[in-house]
Amino acid sequence: MSLAERETQVVERVAKQLFIGGSWRDAAGGATFKVEDPSTGAVLCEVADASVEDAFAALDAAAAAQPAWAAWAPRDRGEVLRRAYELLMERQDDLALLMTLEMGKPLAEAKGEIAYAAEFLRWFSEEAVRIGGDYAVSPNGQSRFLIMRQPVGPSMLITPWNFPMAMGTRKIGPAIAAGCTMVLKPAQQTPLSALALADILREAGLPEGVLSVLPTSDAGGVTEPLLRDGRIRKLSFTGSTAVGRKLLEQSAEQVLRTSMELGGNAPFLVFDDADLDAAVEGAMQAKMRNIGEACTAANRMYVQSGIAPEFARRLSERMGALKLGRGTEPDVQVGPLIDARAREKVQGLVDDAVGRGARVLVGGAPGEGGGYFYLPTVLADVPQSSELSTTEIFGPVAPIIPFDTEDEALAAANDTEYGLVSYVYTQNLNRALRVSEALETGMVGLNQGIVSNPAAPFGGVKHSGLGREGGRVGIDEFLETKYIGLGGL
Ligand code: NAP
Repeated sequence: MSLAERETQVVERVAKQLFIGGSWRDAAGGATFKVEDPSTGAVLCEVADASVEDAFAALDAAAAAQPAWAAWAPRDRGEVLRRAYELLMERQDDLALLMTLEMGKPLAEAKGEIAYAAEFLRWFSEEAVRIGGDYAVSPNGQSRFLIMRQPVGPSMLITPWNFPMAMGTRKIGPAIAAGCTMVLKPAQQTPLSALALADILREAGLPEGVLSVLPTSDAGGVTEPLLRDGRIRKLSFTGSTAVGRKLLEQSAEQVLRTSMELGGNAPFLVFDDADLDAAVEGAMQAKMRNIGEACTAANRMYVQSGIAPEFARRLSERMGALKLGRGTEPDVQVGPLIDARAREKVQGLVDDAVGRGARVLVGGAPGEGGGYFYLPTVLADVPQSSELSTTEIFGPVAPIIPFDTEDEALAAANDTEYGLVSYVYTQNLNRALRVSEALETGMVGLNQGIVSNPAAPFGGVKHSGLGREGGRVGIDEFLETKYIGLGGL
């Protein structure tokens, strides 16, 4: 079968309707919206466009399913996750192709994301049976404490377009393990991966009503009434800080539990005692994973003055050699940005830095072709006052800002309202620990350019968010703690 035929087939196979209460249906008003391939601008298909009426149908299903679902044996909930993990891995190639078509990332990276996404399901299939409690004697010896964990209840999940599958499973995995029902609203630009996932979970045995999926062109119109309804008890959101802030305000009315995985502005620090080869390799990963469209992307590269020119030279050589193109083509390493607006924003940030004295070593302009391509770019001698040192770039642009002392680097790195992740390259153990402690971020990549791992707690501080996903603590976000005081013993 030719690639074009496979592309048509993977898109055709996905149900393009709403998934509510265990079945597929059109939107109440029959509306649809278009899904585009960002590498060509061509329309891939149309998908049902959920209205507020559909949202309430999904909430009704989630509320009705909650008591029976919470009573399922933890082992059985874990088995559903385990089967879904296996199905995702069996269908990795097709799911990766589907993701590349709707989001643009190169096929090899899309395959990597399917494995990463599946791993959340496997990890939480193992956590479902480890929801513990506690028993203690009160300090005065006169009563006993019995402490149990219970599901929070129906949860609203809202995900972004940049990791269309993994951002879903990072929430769905712990929610299933904990026994919560869910209403998922995927990003408008990438609904197909979420719809494919819903079908896999159905096939894996997830009961009716436990998960509903609502693609929509009216995100706020569909989610706000649910957040204000009172039956939703939890919001788990991944996306921009601006939208997260709005959702926190909406969640205040019903005093919802909230998990917020928001924007980043990661500093990447390279000291002159670093292994330079490793630092350049790490910079390529931290910058170019997902075409630079990752919350964890290195946004500002602070490099000690003595090694900054050599670091810039080596990084430019690597960045300039990357192959740009449609993610389905062989050997392509950099796909398109998600849309024209994203590309204009990246160009604007580059122009601003250049206007303030930065030098373009490589790239600095849109790529060729019908898609939203932007050339891998390295900027040297970027002034700290540039807009890109305070703004999430979300594109393949590496700004290098030289520094002289450790204190200066730390002050610049922490001079941002964001606090998701930072990266440090040094071979001096004392400095490594001192700097890692002083960085105001939820995660630190110490001599490594990727921190994401389903078995580790992912999340930020400051305006980068609240709560953690993955790791041992990921399930806590979907559990309440109940204390029973036992008297009369
Ligand atoms: P976004 O614009 O905030 O959108 C995220 C999700 O929120 C989408 O599903 C979007 O729907 C929805 N949304 C937008 N406005 C809404 C509203 N008023 N009410 C309810 N939902 C609303 O972010 P994005 O551009 O998709 O994603 C990029 C951002 O996500 C970056 O800032 C990135 O750093 C962040 N991110 C963070 C993490 C993390 O773990 N910390 C991981 C990945 C991405 P529509 O698609 O319909 O607009």
